[in-house]
Amino acid sequence: MPDTQPPSNRNDMRLALEADRHDANRVSALRSPAWEKVSRTLFDVAILGGGVSGACIYHHLSRRGYRVLLLDKGDFACGTSQASGMTIWGGLLYLRNLDLRSVVRLSKDREGLARDMPAWVRPQSFRFVPSSDSVWRERLVHAALYLYWGLGLFRRRRPRREPLFEEAALLAHPPVRGSLVLEEATLSASDSRFVLQWIVCHQSEEDVPLNHAVVEEGRFDPRDRLWYLEVGDAFGHRSVTTRARFLVNATGAWTDRVNEQFGIRAPYKHIFSKGVYLGLDRPDNHRDPLVLEVEEHRDIITLMPWGPVSLWGPTEATVRRAEDGFAVTPEDVDLLLGMARRKLRRSITKRDVVSLRCGLRPLAVNRDFGGARYPLDLSRAYRLWEDPGVPWTAVYGGKLTNCGSLAREITARIARRIGPARSPDCDAPRILPEPEWDHYPGIPGRVPSLDWCMRHEYCCTLEDYLRRRTNISQWIPREGLGRAGENRSRVRQLALVLSGGSDAEADRALGAYEAGVRRRFDDVLGVVQ
Ligand SMILES: Cc1cc2nc3c(=O)[nH]c(=O)nc-3n(C[C@H](O)[C@H](O)[C@H](O)COP(=O)(O)OP(=O)(O)OC[C@H]3O[C@@H](n4cnc5c(N)ncnc54)[C@H](O)[C@@H]3O)c2cc1C
Repeated sequence: MPDTQPPSNRNDMRLALEADRHDANRVSALRSPAWEKVSRTLFDVAILGGGVSGACIYHHLSRRGYRVLLLDKGDFACGTSQASGMTIWGGLLYLRNLDLRSVVRLSKDREGLARDMPAWVRPQSFRFVPSSDSVWRERLVHAALYLYWGLGLFRRRRPRREPLFEEAALLAHPPVRGSLVLEEATLSASDSRFVLQWIVCHQSEEDVPLNHAVVEEGRFDPRDRLWYLEVGDAFGHRSVTTRARFLVNATGAWTDRVNEQFGIRAPYKHIFSKGVYLGLDRPDNHRDPLVLEVEEHRDIITLMPWGPVSLWGPTEATVRRAEDGFAVTPEDVDLLLGMARRKLRRSITKRDVVSLRCGLRPLAVNRDFGGARYPLDLSRAYRLWEDPGVPWTAVYGGKLTNCGSLAREITARIARRIGPARSPDCDAPRILPEPEWDHYPGIPGRVPSLDWCMRHEYCCTLEDYLRRRTNISQWIPREGLGRAGENRSRVRQLALVLSGGSDAEADRALGAYEAGVRRRFDDVLGVVQ
């Protein structure tokens, strides 16, 4: 049985009042049971941040029988975890700094995910195209790929040279000596769905994931050694007090800020490296991901096939503040289009851009780090900070590829701090019912229906659905609206489902979505649609 105490009168009354007022609102009604559990359960661990790090930690702790609360101030995966290259890789780029340790570790993580999660992580050949036609250069790269393969314990296919390949026709300068093929792994659906799958199978009286939930205040009470958190509904419907024995800060780029909010001082801090991709129409002959060498900074740029688009990027630029990193700027677009003109045969203009994606790599450095280094020269290893005074751990760094080892390490540390779970057998993973399917103009195949995603996957807004429960906003121009707004009525239908049939609410949601698309897409590209 959960260790609960009677909810405070204040919470009770507020919940009852709010429930009456908002039962008409479908999203609010669906979220009510979770809010009630949050207010009455004493959690072993509360995790702040539902990106890949927080979600995977949530999964591991829930499986061990701990009572876990996962809170995200936005939607799950709405930070960097929705903007990655979706590659589960052994860290090839870190060979250039001879960071062999990272390569060995990441290769091991890649193998673990490919072995344990074949439905989500699939092997994928990548074509590496050296920047020059020099025989020596090619031999050097080939030797490096062999070393990489060896550091990965020869688990992937042996690297090989392929003189002829279909994608050569896409390049401005097809390589005389062909491409070098190496095998990595990629996510089969999307990065957001990869995050979600860690979460959806753990939902019970004792394991509660709650998105769009903002921690307004938090304090640690040394008398009962509990954290008290005031959590507010981002839609403004309610706020409750919840309690937890341990807190994990897995808020990615916001980690330093959340530490500050709670008065925690860590010996690390984050440096932010912004990464942007352009989604372009995918040509029929683009089958394998291409890795092209870029002369500047000895970096690479990729052309990744993903459904009907090819992702071109990413950029790598240091930014100072987290807020600056999550918006694509016209300069980012110009930079990527300039590189496309140099590297690709097809002439690409702003009008060819289907979608934009942008995230911040949070790179862990020591607190006193003051240098200005190219982000790729900084270590990508994660670091964990356990506060000696209060039960608190903060995650610094982290990738999709190493989410499993990070979560296992943090789970073991928490078990040492708070002891074994009190109900180790309570956690039978929830089996979701088969999705109900739907169609969307321009999307090949079918998509899970909005109604199903609302009932089973915590989907609350148009953006949750179009961007993270499906790939619609990444695969259809202007975030699903269509170049000339031809899908507007379809998006309104979706807004009606969300609002439970209220025309006024549906119009409001559609208007807000369109304004967001103008800001995030039309204004950045400077294209009048
Ligand atoms: C362009 C790019 C390409 C990449 N490609 C790859 C790749 O191919 N392979 C790979 O392994 N890695 C890749 N990465 C790295 C990887 O995507 C990130 O390191 C990883 O997604 C970070 O996950 P996270 O959970 O730490 O952070 P995030 O995904 O940013 O999650 C943090 C979450 O915390 C929430 N939050 C913030 N503040 C609060 C608060 N106060 N309370 C509650 N919640 C809060 C946010 O809403 C967010 O959902 C890439 C990164 C970028 C930028």
